[in-house]
Amino acid sequence: MAFVVDRERRPAGIRPSSVVDGVYDNIYHRLMALEIAPGARIPIDVLARDLNVSQTPVREALSRLEREGLVRKEHLIGYSAAPQWTRKQFEDLYIFRLLIEPEAARLAAVNMNPASLLLVEAAAADMEHGETPVDRNTRYSRFARADAHFHDVILKIAGNEVIRSTLSNQHVHLHIFRLMFHTRVTQEALEEHENLLAAFRAGDPEAARQAMTIHIERSRDRLLSAFE
Ligand SMILES: [Zn+2]
Repeated sequence: MAFVVDRERRPAGIRPSSVVDGVYDNIYHRLMALEIAPGARIPIDVLARDLNVSQTPVREALSRLEREGLVRKEHLIGYSAAPQWTRKQFEDLYIFRLLIEPEAARLAAVNMNPASLLLVEAAAADMEHGETPVDRNTRYSRFARADAHFHDVILKIAGNEVIRSTLSNQHVHLHIFRLMFHTRVTQEALEEHENLLAAFRAGDPEAARQAMTIHIERSRDRLLSAFE
């Protein structure tokens, strides 16, 4: 693993929080790459030894990942990777997304101004750059983060904090990312985003609502193959 920072040998000026960040990134990547399988135990002492750090930053990183829904902590058992979604959980979530996100896209189109349009365009462009060929894991990981960011920018512009926080508590994109390992990342999602952008540029709330509905329905259909 690339991350090796010993507490004592840490260069002067680097605060312990950056050690936690490094440990966090390392575990995050292992979870995303399914090197730590869904449901697998995550022993703190083994990880600490592996990363050449004390147990404290490992505990801190794990509790951050727990808040993000990627790991679970059970009394007397300890930490484990969050289980893979069941098909039922997946379908429930997509029904929920279909209720909420098209309305958020409509609201975003109503609120759109030149400055916020630039933010959405930039978020969409980030995803296109994720297409540059690197290894599969890195590409998927970037794609998932960039997609999460794109959707969150739209939710921010929509300006309804109840919608935004409720969706963000579902950690949709992190779970989707792990499913994506069994499917394909396609050009289709980028084209669907492009349709959303066109609606935002045109200032057309109804077209934005429809574009988001189609995007989520197609995303659901693409990911469903992970359960077959
Ligand atoms: Zn998307």
